[in-house]
Amino acid sequence: ISSVELTRFFLERAQRLNGRLNAFITLDPERSLAQAREADARRERGDAGPLTGIPVAQKDIFCAKGWLTTCGSKILSNFVAPYDAHVVERMNAAGIVNLGKTNMDEFAMGSSNETSYYGPVRNPWDPERVPGGSSGGSACAVAARMAPAATGTDTGGSIRQPAALCGVSGIKPTYGVVSRYGMIAFASSLDQGGPMARSAEDLALLLNVMAGFDVRDSTSLERAPEDYTRDLERSLAGLRIGLAEEYFAAGVAPDVARAVQAAVEEFRRLGCETVEVKLPNTRLSIPVYYVLAPAEASSNLARYDGVRYGYRAPAYQDLLDMYMKTRAQGFGAEVKRRILIGTYVLSHGYYDAYYLQAQKLRRLIAEDFRRAFERCDLIVGPTSPTTAFPLGSRTADPVQMYLSDIFTIAVNLAGLPGMSIPAGFDAQGLPVGLQIIGNYFGEARMLNAAHQYQ
Ligand code: GLN
Repeated sequence: ISSVELTRFFLERAQRLNGRLNAFITLDPERSLAQAREADARRERGDAGPLTGIPVAQKDIFCAKGWLTTCGSKILSNFVAPYDAHVVERMNAAGIVNLGKTNMDEFAMGSSNETSYYGPVRNPWDPERVPGGSSGGSACAVAARMAPAATGTDTGGSIRQPAALCGVSGIKPTYGVVSRYGMIAFASSLDQGGPMARSAEDLALLLNVMAGFDVRDSTSLERAPEDYTRDLERSLAGLRIGLAEEYFAAGVAPDVARAVQAAVEEFRRLGCETVEVKLPNTRLSIPVYYVLAPAEASSNLARYDGVRYGYRAPAYQDLLDMYMKTRAQGFGAEVKRRILIGTYVLSHGYYDAYYLQAQKLRRLIAEDFRRAFERCDLIVGPTSPTTAFPLGSRTADPVQMYLSDIFTIAVNLAGLPGMSIPAGFDAQGLPVGLQIIGNYFGEARMLNAAHQYQ
């Protein structure tokens, strides 16, 4: 099959389903097909890699030259990126076709895809339910077979939680493995890009392309390139799986707990040992995150001032009024809430009480994992305490929404890699996600475990 045929197939499906599911903000068939033709020419010349010609959807947080890049916000609703993100650059170089830009929570702030300026994404398993967020468009597109794979970003769970709620696989690599250059910043010390796909094998192939050192991201790690497919077929005999009681505590839906227990049994059958580990500071991760992430966001979002690019209020009195009207009109409620929290915790008199305190607790959370990984190779548990919840059911209470990420956020605070893979269904037929957490640079072993399980 040619790349043009493959791309046509997915474009047609994406266009047909998008009215119902709203997974894509931008589809540009001409552009995608031009890339597909180029990929076919490359294959003809014998100049093709494993993913040359494969269409992959891009979360609308990644700058792609010539493409509208909105980050799910009105304030970037007219922003055509003048350059490629490092991830996009690498994918282009590998001959991957950009299938379109996927919907997301505004500036990646959310767990349900309901904060997008472009309207909510619907869960393909039940359109009255959320797909999770913030990479909900990407998760939905893969689950509904509108795209074979997609990119996502994960600041506190935004790859893993929507992957779980939509029944697909996704991996957030170790912080610093994938360059953040051209990936619109939310909370820079936590943000990390990664792939979303149908299998661990597909994730490994995509990560081979997405990962790599980049001088333009000061936190990008200079390491020898890895082949993430290298361990896929390795036996799991003797692998030590850590189980943390904190991940099986009250609040986890019984069907989710059951599915995760069944997955643990399957790992035992595959030769793994299980050991108990303790992550006592997990309970602090949400309060710590909701100090640090808004603090960083308030700084990162200062650049949207209506001057250099993006939306500008149509009518204003003077410069200050222009800033105020632009930001008042351009940002949605959740983004404004985060900016207010962020500027508050960073302000004189509160910095020590909130920001500094949160930084100290962040260290304790990372220490929990350091100790746990002395006793095990991987930690396994639920990705999300519940399966997909009904649209609108958590929008009135931000704290309820924030609790959706109770199992994913600590991983970002520690900078560790985490992934979610499908692990069966609940009684209503909704997918359950299994989270696998690895030690720093443990991606190949995580993908190995996921591949053997799948
Ligand atoms: N749901 C979390 C938040 O709203 C995490 C989002 C993310 O990982 N980008 O901040």
